[in-house]
Amino acid sequence: MDAALLAPAAGLDAFLAEAASLLPPGALLRGEDCAPYQADASGCRGQAAAVLLPDSTETVSALLRAAARHRARLVPQGNRSGLVGGAVPDGSGRQAVLSLARMRRLREFDPLNRSAVAEAGLSLSELNRQLEPHGLWLPIDVGSDPATGGLVGANTGGSRLLRHGDARRNLLGLEVVLADGQGSVLDLTAPLRKNNAGIDLKQLFIGSGGALGVVTAASWDLKRLDASQLTLFAALPDREAALVALDAFEQHFGETLSAFEVMGAPALNATLRQFPALRHPLAGSVAGCYALVEIASAMPGLDALLQERAEALLASLHERGLILDAAFGQAERLWPLRDSLPLALAAAGTPLSFDVGLPRSRLPAFLSAAERWLTAEHPALRLYDFGHFGDGGCHLIVLLPRGMAAGYGPAKLAMLKSALYQLVADHGGGFSAEHGVGPLNAAFYRKFTCPAAQGLAAGLQRLLDPAAALGRHRYG
Ligand SMILES: Cc1cc2nc3c(=O)[nH]c(=O)nc-3n(C[C@H](O)[C@H](O)[C@H](O)COP(=O)(O)OP(=O)(O)OC[C@H]3O[C@@H](n4cnc5c(N)ncnc54)[C@H](O)[C@@H]3O)c2cc1C
Repeated sequence: MDAALLAPAAGLDAFLAEAASLLPPGALLRGEDCAPYQADASGCRGQAAAVLLPDSTETVSALLRAAARHRARLVPQGNRSGLVGGAVPDGSGRQAVLSLARMRRLREFDPLNRSAVAEAGLSLSELNRQLEPHGLWLPIDVGSDPATGGLVGANTGGSRLLRHGDARRNLLGLEVVLADGQGSVLDLTAPLRKNNAGIDLKQLFIGSGGALGVVTAASWDLKRLDASQLTLFAALPDREAALVALDAFEQHFGETLSAFEVMGAPALNATLRQFPALRHPLAGSVAGCYALVEIASAMPGLDALLQERAEALLASLHERGLILDAAFGQAERLWPLRDSLPLALAAAGTPLSFDVGLPRSRLPAFLSAAERWLTAEHPALRLYDFGHFGDGGCHLIVLLPRGMAAGYGPAKLAMLKSALYQLVADHGGGFSAEHGVGPLNAAFYRKFTCPAAQGLAAGLQRLLDPAAALGRHRYG
């Protein structure tokens, strides 16, 4: 179906000739110059017919009009830190990348309203660098550096989602260009926290992976920077204990609990073996899993109080056998342990990564079931888990030992993935907690999403993009 929707070669050539006349000099790349834009952080690769680098909303609109007319397909792209291949063209060489990298202005900043309107190409780190002197930030905390458009397209979460939410929760408004044939611009950027004047259309585009429109600007709800903070690392007997401890931390610290990240002991141990410069904060402990806990507040002067309350809580959890040991530490020393896990595990073999979300109350049962299943069905493979336990997000890595990857061809890997996702579904969870659908998850979307929801998504896509001019993923 995709092939039928793509431009015939003559249409693509005509589109690229028109695009060249719409774009500023040097903003249409061909051939070798496209190479940096053809892969994302998942390693998914494609081949671009061209890369288009517009510098204004008007140009994006003109490009989408031309694309619909010539039946060309454009794939919106941010900083390519996505992990499902959603921002890279397919291998046909007939899709063009629409990179928003040249649209990086901070259009508006209103410190008294705690809001900012950023263009789609402005990166999270650059936005936060500009906000820092004003004591403000956009509190999405990820190991990558997404662009504003990518934050919206992927609805990025991150390690402080427990307290601050995902991109959706921090978004006040959007500017979106539609692939409706007219290149209509939806200006929904008003930085209003209360706005019930009609249907909240911006919600349609959040997390849609560039399939329904091109985000050209986003209006963010900013937060005050933390002024008090406490970070600790705890050894726990098992994940059931982690769940009770999480509940206790929430009871004691309320909305100041910023992060509750849990990693299985095998994942931490593998990371320490891989990166000897990292130090175990609780060397000698024998634990089933570890938790990295952060408590923080924008209210200054709370450090001593947080410490006192945390010590009392840890003592009572220790008495109940729920925490074996714990240590306070600087955030800069403790977070690298958590952030190094994916890299370390990737270096230890051939990793098969899963990004699943479950009701957090079911995480322990699910993880035990997953371990039992893997031991029974694939005894030579190892399962490692880490992730955003506090919000039910869990990154699983099934590690194929070196030399075994050859025995696991694409069909066998797809079966393994599907069986594990079935286990996730049986425990009430979803196959993509953070990273979205994209080509890497398209088959699982079809298998695990309710048919009526798929039908509605496909209908919406046809309505907003009748010529299939946009995005890597077709919903129908
Ligand atoms: C080391 C590492 C750690 C990560 N940790 C996390 C994490 O904790 N939580 C999490 O949620 N994610 C995480 N990610 C995933 C990733 O960073 C996010 O998905 C990211 O937000 C994507 O932003 P980007 O600008 O790189 O977008 P891209 O990768 O370029 O694009 C992502 C998707 O958005 C679409 N898109 C991009 N720009 C636009 C636009 N202007 N309009 C419409 N659609 C657009 C693309 O078509 C694509 O489908 C991590 C990635 C890495 C590499």
